[in-house]
Amino acid sequence: MWRFKLIIGLFLVILPVAQAQVVTRVLTSKKVVALTFDGCENRHASYLDCGIIDYLVQNKIPATFFLTGKFAYRNMTDLRKIKNYPFFEFENHSLNHIQHMEKLSTYKFYKDIAKNQKMIRWITGKTPKYFRFPGGNYDDNTLKAVESMGLQVVHWTYASGDPDKNISSEMLAKEVDSLTTPGDILIFHVNGRGAHTAEALPKLVEVLRKQGYTFVTVDQLMKMEDKTAAILPKQNAPKN
Ligand SMILES: [Zn+2]
Repeated sequence: MWRFKLIIGLFLVILPVAQAQVVTRVLTSKKVVALTFDGCENRHASYLDCGIIDYLVQNKIPATFFLTGKFAYRNMTDLRKIKNYPFFEFENHSLNHIQHMEKLSTYKFYKDIAKNQKMIRWITGKTPKYFRFPGGNYDDNTLKAVESMGLQVVHWTYASGDPDKNISSEMLAKEVDSLTTPGDILIFHVNGRGAHTAEALPKLVEVLRKQGYTFVTVDQLMKMEDKTAAILPKQNAPKN
């Protein structure tokens, strides 16, 4: 009997525990990249950047939007116009965009995310599967809590820095051209904070297509994971 208990004990010790993890890129040998856009607001009202949306729609480019409830509610009419495009995905970026959700009480934390699930579903008709923390801030507990709600945390491979007014559209395109590797998740802003994002978008799409990249949503990218794919080294950042 003791042997049996010992074996069970050992089994429990070495049993792999599902790891809480933040997805920042997906290992794949396919030349795919996911464009993601944050729609959020802090103190001031923010509006959907029509320049970005028009370009994505006209060119049928897959994109994933991480929306806060506040932003989604304010832009409800415009979001409902684009919600049925099959190449768009709408995901959860919290209700109120609190910069440090790890400081919230457990009750407030769950309520904020659950309310936004409902909000996004109500506006777009789709249930989010992915979550992005405001400001990318989290700790072990908040990460596990989000996963316990059935959401997977998806951040980004490298920050484009698109809120920076000093980064021109040419610089953005150059940066994307040299830094992107297969399976990367790129982040931009669709709330008017992307100073030159709309202007840069056609340029960066062109440079990536020239390299042979195609665009996918985050959900599509997640399904392309290939753990045997080799990690390609990144080139050096462009000198501006
Ligand atoms: Zn945000």
